[in-house]
Amino acid sequence: MKCPDSDGSRGDARASARKSVSVEIVSTGTELMQGLYSDTNAQYLSQVMEGLGFEVRYHTAVGDDAETLEEALRIARGRVEIVVITGGLGPTADDVTRDVVARVWGKELREDTEALRLIEERFAARDLKMPASNRAQALVPEGAVALHNPVGTATGFISQGEEAVAVVLPGPKREFVPMLEKHVIPFLTETYGVQQLRRTRTIRTFGVPESYLNEQLRDLFSQSGKPGLAFLAKPGKVDIRLNVRGEGEPEVGRCIAEMERKILRRIGEEHVYGYDEEEIEQSVGKLLRERRLRIAVAESCTGGEVTMRLTEVSGSSNYISECYVTYSNEAKVKLVGVKRETLETCGAVSRETAAEMAVGVRERAGVDIGLGITGIAGPTGGTAEKPVGLVYLGLADARGVMTFRRQFTGNRSENRLWATETALDLLRRLILGKLAAEK
Ligand code: ATP
Ligand code: MG
Repeated sequence: MKCPDSDGSRGDARASARKSVSVEIVSTGTELMQGLYSDTNAQYLSQVMEGLGFEVRYHTAVGDDAETLEEALRIARGRVEIVVITGGLGPTADDVTRDVVARVWGKELREDTEALRLIEERFAARDLKMPASNRAQALVPEGAVALHNPVGTATGFISQGEEAVAVVLPGPKREFVPMLEKHVIPFLTETYGVQQLRRTRTIRTFGVPESYLNEQLRDLFSQSGKPGLAFLAKPGKVDIRLNVRGEGEPEVGRCIAEMERKILRRIGEEHVYGYDEEEIEQSVGKLLRERRLRIAVAESCTGGEVTMRLTEVSGSSNYISECYVTYSNEAKVKLVGVKRETLETCGAVSRETAAEMAVGVRERAGVDIGLGITGIAGPTGGTAEKPVGLVYLGLADARGVMTFRRQFTGNRSENRLWATETALDLLRRLILGKLAAEK
């Protein structure tokens, strides 16, 4: 099967033969100019527009000042085909976007009856009378398509002129995203046709070095006309990002699926903990639930971080029984039954203690899997024999207990995070039946 061109292919013959529709994103807000928040609207909208195959050429940001906005919009209107504007649609005097867009696009403002009805309804639903100033939020330029706001009172609109199209949206993301999805994207794809579809897929791996992945997948990078591949490495984890552009479905979807299969075959499926935004705790949760297994945890150096991550998944009460932070030796003995003798002869940070924590918590909770973690997070507490960053992990199930030793080299919070993620990943591999005892 032939794959469409890869991302970053704007320079190739096929891409340059097709004229893309140009876009400028204009963000408004004095707080934006003052650096009180960053322009994440432009970032988000760029992703959406590029994903639809439009070419975002300019990002502009201006304060809530009519004159500056007018200047920016006149320039934008003259140099691109679509101008997407966010912010400044509120009911107050500093919300000037509506007026300025109408002026620049040469239209009068008209009240949109449906918009006004919806705004009044919003106030009525909260038993409030609509203040007169909110009436302005139902105004849109004549001939424009009003974009009704399901979560706020600011009405957006699409105004078509001789030159560019103006797409005007409220500033808060939670308000404009529904409007974008329901009205703007269908309008754009209908008006311009789907330009080109761009899809990304992230394959998330744990515990395999980037250099190994690179070796396994090297030739896929170099094949021209294949999907773009990129690695994003974080400590312990590497994301493999696939980027495909094509004329549309099903071509793009098929290509992604084919590449994904090829990658999994080469690198080994067991190293993949998830896709796209998925975190390790979510895949662990899915596996525990699927296999109807229950788990209990005893943590020392991670101070509850493993428990926090596991319980972040909604519905985790189905598979988590009980979790302890057994920080002191006393707690290790009292709560999960570690032997005093073990603590005295081997120390709290040892393979033996990790094993007894795992076995003990499993037995006390009466569950399928027990997890124990003990280590030295640092920066103090290390010795030549047991340096900072040394962590032992124990995993107990019906077959017995396995222990793992890891030496991390970060600061306190990094060591805790890496110990946590290692624990979650070992757990994932254990459930998959892919965990081998360490020699
Ligand atoms: P409102 O009716 O809520 O006043 P509005 O359309 O007038 O809506 P703004 O007042 O410009 O929007 O912005 C409201 C909030 O939306 C800002 O305080 C900010 O949190 C967020 N916001 C606006 N523009 C941006 C942007 N470009 N990037 C990120 N966040 C933004
Ligand atoms: Mg405002």
